[in-house]
Amino acid sequence: MVNKIQVKSILNKHKKRDDWFLDDYSVNPYSGCFFNCIYCYTRGSKYGENMTKTLSVKVNAPELLEKQLSRGAKKGEYGIIALSSSTEPYMPIEKKLKLTRRLLEIILKYRFPVEVATKSRLVLRDLDILREIDKNAVLPADLREKLKHGAIISFSISTLDKKLAKILEPGAPEPMERLETMKKCKEEGFFTGLNFIPVLPFLSDSEEMLEKTIRTAKEYGADFIFVGGLTLFGKGTTDSKTLYYKFLERHYPELVPKYKSLYRIFWAPSKEYQKELEEKSKRLCEKYGIKSGIVL
Ligand code: SF4
Repeated sequence: MVNKIQVKSILNKHKKRDDWFLDDYSVNPYSGCFFNCIYCYTRGSKYGENMTKTLSVKVNAPELLEKQLSRGAKKGEYGIIALSSSTEPYMPIEKKLKLTRRLLEIILKYRFPVEVATKSRLVLRDLDILREIDKNAVLPADLREKLKHGAIISFSISTLDKKLAKILEPGAPEPMERLETMKKCKEEGFFTGLNFIPVLPFLSDSEEMLEKTIRTAKEYGADFIFVGGLTLFGKGTTDSKTLYYKFLERHYPELVPKYKSLYRIFWAPSKEYQKELEEKSKRLCEKYGIKSGIVL
C-alpha cells in the first residue's frame, strides 16, 4: 500500500536557473523513490534507509499544478520544468496511477517546456504528450535561439556494469535498458541525453570507462552527456554517505582509504579530482562529437 499525501505546492520555482539542466522549475509527483539508489542525495532521515517503504503519492498534484501553471502562463513566466529533481517520475507505480502523465497533460495545456530525467522505459508511454510539448512549448526568451526543443528527455546512469548497478540502484532498470530507451526516444525525434551522474570514484571513472560510456552514449543516440561526480551527504544511519561507505566496506574494502582521502570531511571529491574529471570528459565528448551541455 502506497502512502497518499496532500501537498501545499507542487511547482517549485528555483531562485536561479540550473546551470546544467536549464530548469527554472521542478515538479516531483512522488516523495521518496522506488529505485532506492544508495547514493541518492535525497536520502536521510526524511525517507529512511528503504525509500520504497516511505514512498508517497502527491494526490493533489494535478489540481495544484493546474492552478500554479495557469497563473505562471498568464504572467508569461515560462521556464523549463524539471520532472523530476528528487524522485523518479516513471517508477513502476506510475504505470497504474498515471500521475506523471496527468501532470504532463497540464504542462502541455499551459505550454511550458519540460526536461524529463528518468531511469525507466515507462517514459515511452508518454511520448505522444511529450511530442506535443516539444512542438508547442514556449521557451524562455533567452533560450529560444539556442534550444529548439520544448521537451528534453535524459537518462541517468552511474555505471555500465550491470552487477554493480544492481547493488547501487536496486530498484532501477539495468543500465543498458536505459540506453535502449534513450535510443528509441532519439529515433522518435526527441532531443535526448545521458546524465552520467554520479561517476563513481575508482569504480566507473577510469579513462577507459569514461571513454566507453561516452562512446556508448553516442552510439545510443545521446545529443548531450553530463558527467558529474558523486556527492556523499550526512552522518545519520540512513544518509547517503553512511550507506555508501557500508557498500564499500562490504564489496570494495580496499577502496575505503582511497575514498577517505578523496573526500576527507567534505561531501564532494577534491577540487583537483573534479577538474580532472571535467577535463577528461570534455576531451572525450569532443572526440566522439557529443555535446557536454544542452546548449553548448
Ligand atoms: S532514481 Fe533518482 S531519485 Fe530515485 S533513488 Fe535513484 S537517484 Fe534518487
